[in-house]
Amino acid sequence: MKKYNFNAGPSILPREVIENTAKQILDFNGSGLSLMEISHRAADFKPVVDEAMALIKELLDIPEGYSVVFLGGGASLQFMQIPANFLIHKAAYLNTGTWAKKAQKEAKLFGDVVEVASSADANYTFVPKNFDIPTDADYLHITTNNTIYGTEIRKELDSPIPMIADMSSDIMSRPVDVSKYTAIYAGAQKNMSMAGVTVIIVKDDMLGKAPRQLPTMIDYRTHVEKGSMFNTPPVVPIYTLLETMRWVKAQGGVKEMDRRAHERADILYGEIDRNKLFRGTVKEEDRSLMNICFVMNDEYKDLEKPFLDYAMANGMVGIKGHRSVGGFRASCYNAQTVEGVNALVDLMKNFERQH
Ligand SMILES: *Cc1c(COP(=O)(O)O)cnc(C)c1O
Repeated sequence: MKKYNFNAGPSILPREVIENTAKQILDFNGSGLSLMEISHRAADFKPVVDEAMALIKELLDIPEGYSVVFLGGGASLQFMQIPANFLIHKAAYLNTGTWAKKAQKEAKLFGDVVEVASSADANYTFVPKNFDIPTDADYLHITTNNTIYGTEIRKELDSPIPMIADMSSDIMSRPVDVSKYTAIYAGAQKNMSMAGVTVIIVKDDMLGKAPRQLPTMIDYRTHVEKGSMFNTPPVVPIYTLLETMRWVKAQGGVKEMDRRAHERADILYGEIDRNKLFRGTVKEEDRSLMNICFVMNDEYKDLEKPFLDYAMANGMVGIKGHRSVGGFRASCYNAQTVEGVNALVDLMKNFERQH
C-alpha cells in the first residue's frame, strides 16, 4: 500500500532527493568511497557546501552582508546561541508556542527578556497582534511557524527593531524579506533536509557586539570565517540539503513552494470546515499552511481513535496530533503532494459517510 508521510519532523523529502543521496552514500562522485566515509575536507566535498550555501542565498534572495552557516545541535541549540551572540542589553520575545517559549527561557540566561505578547492562556490557538515592541531591545524574536499548535506568521511582521526568527518549520516555503532580520535559523529536518544540520543566516555586521566572552564553538564568527568547516560538519545531512535545494530551484523556487502550500492547505482546511465530523483548532486567520491541526467535533469525540486507526490502516503516516493539542496534525511541508492531501481528504469523506 502506498504510504503518505504527514510526519511533523523529521518529515517528507522529495523521492529524488532520497534516491540521489542514497547513490552518493554508496559511491560518492565515482570515487569508490561512500559519502559517509570521505573527509569533510576532501576536494570534492567543498563544492557541496559551497553550492548548498549559494543555493540558499539565491532561493531566499539573501542580500549582501549576510552569511549562511551549517551547524549541528538542532534549532534547540540556537535557543541559547542566538542570545549569546546577539543579546546586548535586552531582547523581546513573542510567545506563540512551545518552541517560542523554550527560546525565551534560554535567552533569560543572557540578559533582560521582555515577553511582548503571549497566547499561552488560549493554548496557543492564535498569534497575538498589535503588541508593543520595545524600541530599545536588541531584537524581536519570533517563531514564524508553530509546528505543534498549527499557527503561522506567514506575512512579514512590521517591527521597529531587527528581528530574529526560528523558521524551522516554514523556511523555504515562501519568500522572506531577509533584510528585516539579524538572524534566521532552522533545524533542517522539516523543510530542507534530513535531521542533523541546522541552517543559520546571520547578518555579518551584527556579530561580535555582545558584551561577553563566547566559547569558540558558540561564536558564529568561528563558523562564518571557516565556511562552516571549523570542525567536522554533518556531511550527509548537508549533502541531502544540497539535493533538496536543487529540487526547490528546479520546481520554481520559493514562490512556487508558496503556491503549492496554499493549494494543499486550501484543499485540507476546506474539507475540515465542510465535514461535519471535524473542526480546525486555531483561529482561521492564523492557520498554518505547514502543520494543519484538527480535532473531532465535540459530538463525535469518541470517533477520534477509530478515525486514526482507519487513516493509518489506509496508508496515512504521522497524522496523530501532538499530545498538547490532541486530535490530528497533517504536516504539509514542501515535498507533500496534492495527491497525498487528496488521499487524506477522501478518507475523511468516506469516514463521514460511515457515521
Ligand atoms: C522542530 C522545531 C524545533 C526543534 O528543533 P530541533 O532541531 O529538534 O532542536 C524548534 N523550533 C521549531 C519551530 C520547530 O519546529
